[in-house]
Amino acid sequence: MSSKILILPGDGIGPEIVAEAKKVLETLRSDFGLQIETEEGAIGGAGYDAAGHPLPDATLALAGAADSVLLGAVGGPQYDGLPRELRPERGLLGIRSELDLFSNLRPAILYEQLADASTLRPEVVAGLDIMIVRELTGGIYFGQPRGIENLDSGERRGFNTLEYKESEIERIARSAFEIAMKRDKRLCSVDKANVLEVSELWREVVIRVGAEYPEVELSHMYVDNAAMQLVRAPKQFDVMVTKNMFGDILSDAAAMLTGSIGMLPSASLNAQNYGMYEPIHGSAPDIAGQGVANPLATILSVAMMLRYSLNEPQMAERIEQAVSDVLDKGLRTPDIYSEGMQKAGTADMGDAVVEALRAKS
Ligand code: NAD
Repeated sequence: MSSKILILPGDGIGPEIVAEAKKVLETLRSDFGLQIETEEGAIGGAGYDAAGHPLPDATLALAGAADSVLLGAVGGPQYDGLPRELRPERGLLGIRSELDLFSNLRPAILYEQLADASTLRPEVVAGLDIMIVRELTGGIYFGQPRGIENLDSGERRGFNTLEYKESEIERIARSAFEIAMKRDKRLCSVDKANVLEVSELWREVVIRVGAEYPEVELSHMYVDNAAMQLVRAPKQFDVMVTKNMFGDILSDAAAMLTGSIGMLPSASLNAQNYGMYEPIHGSAPDIAGQGVANPLATILSVAMMLRYSLNEPQMAERIEQAVSDVLDKGLRTPDIYSEGMQKAGTADMGDAVVEALRAKS
């Protein structure tokens, strides 16, 4: 049975990088027998331009009927003056919450060929391959009550609430264990159980869920130590799971270990492994329309989609191998360029990935 993929190019460099990912999908369909159907929709600024809203009803309906979603990026300075609820980013937050995408997968992968791009020494990061699983729809970013109030003393008090129900911890833990099962079977749960009651409960529930996954080696680490270990010896980690705010911070730090924002894909999944896949970078208005954006993060997002939502791990490996082959050949978009390499534009890079795929057909 063929899988339905909804493609949402979005704004800025979104349409350019998504065009290259489409070439890859088309090649997998025509040359390797991947059974997929694709549809396109508008989101973000493009949604506002087309239908007056960053998440048009028609797009949401298409997403509901699809098996997974591939997104480029949203946002642009021309939309900065819009009321908050009509800004492009609202389309992204809207689709995440409408589809209940609570599990955010943020890999930090550093291809050996790009080890020079990191600010850390090559031997510390070359070959790095970590997956951070961040809880995305709960925790302190959503907890009630929240606000800023005036105190009788005349000063103001700001407050937020950090809360997790057992069921919320259970589902993110299960998601992380499932991912660990598809990788090196090592999971590190990051918390602050020495200070926070929520973390105490988090740790207890993660251990309970872990009993269902005896093959996975579970460890626990306090968040401050995890931050330190990520920059000291990041290759010790396979999969990390953590709450929303810790994950927000740690995943950005881990991404920057690789030094190349144009290389990193991401996924957001619901309990049924329905997912939205997107590069971690934004719409890069500063380079939009110039044909220089790196499409590899988006192409690698397709690989993640094949592995985590469409159950096609061999197709995913084909893409990842093709990307590695292209890097071996020395092709580099400007963001990952270094002396002696061959400069490539967005379309050159997509074409080279297609060629590398076909070379192994
Ligand atoms: P950005 O990620 O768009 O750009 C940061 C820097 O990285 C820029 O110099 C850009 O040129 C470069 N860059 C990003 N992607 C690249 C690629 N594929 N190839 C080469 N270089 C690349 O972040 P920003 O500048 O802070 O935000 C720009 C817009 O994107 C804003 O409107 C913001 O709200 C939006 N945004 C969207 C998402 C998303 O759609 N998921 C995420 C972050 C930011």
